[in-house]
Amino acid sequence: MFNLILFGPPGAGKGTQAIKIAEKFGWKHISTGDILRAEVTQGTPLGTKVRAVMEEGHLVSDELLIAIMESVFIKNNTVKGFVLDGFPRTINQAQELDEMLHKLGQKVSLVLALEVNEDELLKRLLNRAREQGRKDDDGEIIKNRLRQYHHHTKPLIEYYKNKKLLKEVYGVGTIDDIFNALCKAIVD
Ligand code: AMP
Repeated sequence: MFNLILFGPPGAGKGTQAIKIAEKFGWKHISTGDILRAEVTQGTPLGTKVRAVMEEGHLVSDELLIAIMESVFIKNNTVKGFVLDGFPRTINQAQELDEMLHKLGQKVSLVLALEVNEDELLKRLLNRAREQGRKDDDGEIIKNRLRQYHHHTKPLIEYYKNKKLLKEVYGVGTIDDIFNALCKAIVD
């Protein structure tokens, strides 16, 4: 089983690329942001709990995310591989993921980090706010999400570098060029 983590700041294009990679390799795409947004839209107890946190651009608790991922792994035990998009986002989540995979006789296969400069990220997130009306994609909230990324998520680069699992891919250019670079990094 191939367990790929697609890593990067908000606005790096993880979602778009994760869908394409999952389709090409026949892997299951897991976006924790999509899972949480669906809970919010459906008004489930979990959705009600996380709505405000998400709308402010803060991170949902590790405990909830780990419970979500445990059920994802239980439900999808026959897939050939996973493309994880938006998880892990903290060192604690990464450690818990290692443990969950270990229990299943699995491990993280590769981490692909999309590199995009801050000006480009801001531009993309503001555009997405206009086009898709994502509530967490506007002004101050965008800055919050980038702050959360720098504080909690960016340290994962070192975590996976130390495990020799990280490859960095330049994330500015056409969708197809970036996709090709990611695919090359997977098969190399
Ligand atoms: P995304 O679509 O990946 O940008 O996620 C949207 C929002 O969902 C984030 O800003 C967080 O509030 C929440 N979220 C998604 N994944 C995680 C995670 N792994 N840990 C904590 N919060 C998350």
